[in-house]
Amino acid sequence: MTAATRVLVLNSGSSSVKYQLIDMADGSRPASGMVERIGEQSFPDHATALAAIADELAGKGVGLDSPALAAIGHRVVHGGTRFTAPTLITDQVLDTVRELVPLAPLHNPANITGIEIARKLRPDLPQVAVFDTAFHATIPEYAARYAIDSETADRFSVRRYGFHGTSHQYVSRRTAELLGKSPESVNVIVFHLGNGASAAAVAGGVCVDTSMGLTPLEGLVMGTRSGDLDPAVLLHLHRVGGMSADEIDDLLNRRSGMLGLCGDNDMREVTRRVQAGDERAQLAFDIYVHRLRKYLGGYTAVLGRVDAVVFTAGVGENSAEVRAAATAGLDAFGIDLDPALNALRSKAPRLVSSPLSRVAVAVVPTDEELEIARQTFSVISSGDR
Ligand code: AMP
Repeated sequence: MTAATRVLVLNSGSSSVKYQLIDMADGSRPASGMVERIGEQSFPDHATALAAIADELAGKGVGLDSPALAAIGHRVVHGGTRFTAPTLITDQVLDTVRELVPLAPLHNPANITGIEIARKLRPDLPQVAVFDTAFHATIPEYAARYAIDSETADRFSVRRYGFHGTSHQYVSRRTAELLGKSPESVNVIVFHLGNGASAAAVAGGVCVDTSMGLTPLEGLVMGTRSGDLDPAVLLHLHRVGGMSADEIDDLLNRRSGMLGLCGDNDMREVTRRVQAGDERAQLAFDIYVHRLRKYLGGYTAVLGRVDAVVFTAGVGENSAEVRAAATAGLDAFGIDLDPALNALRSKAPRLVSSPLSRVAVAVVPTDEELEIARQTFSVISSGDR
């Protein structure tokens, strides 16, 4: 009999489903891909998209009925305070994820649909939910609570949850490996800089603060999201600007960040324009970097001792310019970037600081799918299913 060592990772978004089949025995990935533009002609809904993925897998000889398939791992964006670890999906678990929809109206519904369809396709197969918020469940109350009336906050579940948790968890652990140390012995600041962007302060493998909050809008400047701003800006836009809640939501989530500042949300294009002397792009770049440096300084104070500052995701892994600007002139912090190492392009986890740098600066490509597969496999292997 074939040992069941493979995990199918599904990331169901509102208009796309990404999938990867990962073999936990040897780390191989026999299949991966993405179905996009769900809701349009070829894929009218998630059911047709997942059926297409099932066909694709079957065509490669690794179909959903394959005896090697041990489980399906689903990315779920919001676990609220209810889910602080990867969880075997039951009807009851799914009901609770449904109750969390008001906290993540843009994300959880698509995650739920993906789970429902996958369970119909393979009702007997263990399926596990891996939450984007879970790694941040260890953030102490004084960092998770906003300074508003406690009763109101509790009534509406308003607190810092944080996102990109699987990425921060994977990258902080991988950084410890890169330093040749155990995760328990290192303090790291992780900058996950993709289209969405967040920072996390991780002390001895445990997350103690993160920049995203109730939703993925707070914190760093992102591709199209504003990140931090005075909450009264919203009131001003409503009272003086006459904007509705939906209009403000659209402004802050889809028309702000780098796009709103300079018209481009892709850091490659922003950098190209900066090099060509474009002033708007330069100002947007400076605002982006200024915010990064504020979090770098803030999390240094939160952690007390920092062993590494780590960059990951699209911008973090690829933009030497952003890494250089974010860490420039910080000798007082013990940070000394090596310009030559920083300029090298590579897909491997690597140090980009000089050997003299007291705080290591690292680039560690994220791998959320592998982390979801690992956590899924550990849930089904732990016996307490
Ligand atoms: P992610 O969300 O992690 O896929 O990151 C996507 C973002 O990474 C894109 O919007 C780009 O802004 C950025 N990116 C990708 N490649 C590069 C690059 N070579 N230089 C700078 N930014 C990049």
